[in-house]
Amino acid sequence: MTRDTELTLNQVTEVIRALPRRRSGTAPDVTYLADGLLWCALCGARLTVEPAEGWYADPHGAAYACAECGRTRARVTTVHQELRELVRRRLADPAVIVRWRSARLAALTAELAQLRAVLVWGRDERHCARLGRALHLGAGPFGRAAVEAGLGHLDTVATRLVELVTEYAALTSGPERGRTRHIGELRAARLAFSDLYFPLLQLGHQLRGTLREQRRRTVRALGGRREYAAYQAELHAARLPLWDLLAHPDWYAPQPAKLPAHDEALARDWSRDPTREPGRRRKLLLTALGEDRLTLGPATADGPRLHLVPAPADRAPAGNPEAP
Ligand SMILES: [Zn+2]
Repeated sequence: MTRDTELTLNQVTEVIRALPRRRSGTAPDVTYLADGLLWCALCGARLTVEPAEGWYADPHGAAYACAECGRTRARVTTVHQELRELVRRRLADPAVIVRWRSARLAALTAELAQLRAVLVWGRDERHCARLGRALHLGAGPFGRAAVEAGLGHLDTVATRLVELVTEYAALTSGPERGRTRHIGELRAARLAFSDLYFPLLQLGHQLRGTLREQRRRTVRALGGRREYAAYQAELHAARLPLWDLLAHPDWYAPQPAKLPAHDEALARDWSRDPTREPGRRRKLLLTALGEDRLTLGPATADGPRLHLVPAPADRAPAGNPEAP
């Protein structure tokens, strides 16, 4: 990597701070699965969730409603039942799955490139020390402690990369390609690292306190400075092979990825418990929708109230920003 393309400390800390959000999935903290994803068929406004009235608000009584024109309103139970049917139908459509797969691969490719670049940056110990200090302002780690703090954050980047590489390999699994590395090799390297990493992490968590106190007590628990340094060296010797493997671009997974249509959540009744597993169901809904929008129309005798509106070619990217 040349000087020009090298990441800055700010870019790296931004990536690391965004990791927990990415790892917890794409859904924000919602109670009702379609919150923010439905539009009024009459006026075009985004629907909001209207909680049930009363002292003890029964979630079954909540509704998706238009606060703009006030003419569109439907109970969450009715809407969720229709949503599940729509999601099942769409996810059984090969064209939807092809589109989902290529969007997912593009997102994975982008994130893989970004996180791999972070690990390249982290090969430099001075970078690790700067990272450790930047992410623990106030704790003031210096010397080896700062390097170790930085490495600890890069380990979370590596953990995320293992997930991404594994998913990518499963999504592109197929016998026709002559790929060189079997995903089992990555799992073994990950295991060798975490066998050393987790005891140390647990020790640090048990011995609460500031970063500096934790480190001092961990040194004592391991029997002294020399023993501590030896443990860290052993850990690093397991870390680097894992990082090397994570840089490898072409992986083979014998097991293909599970298709969204096979998610057990689709076997359940979405109207019975409208607040159950909203994140997982929302993700399925977003997969089924792609860039398309869903509108809720007025109540009819027995026809569906939800309608798909295809995304215009020049749509603003603000449509379904969490699209998985
Ligand atoms: Zn409206």
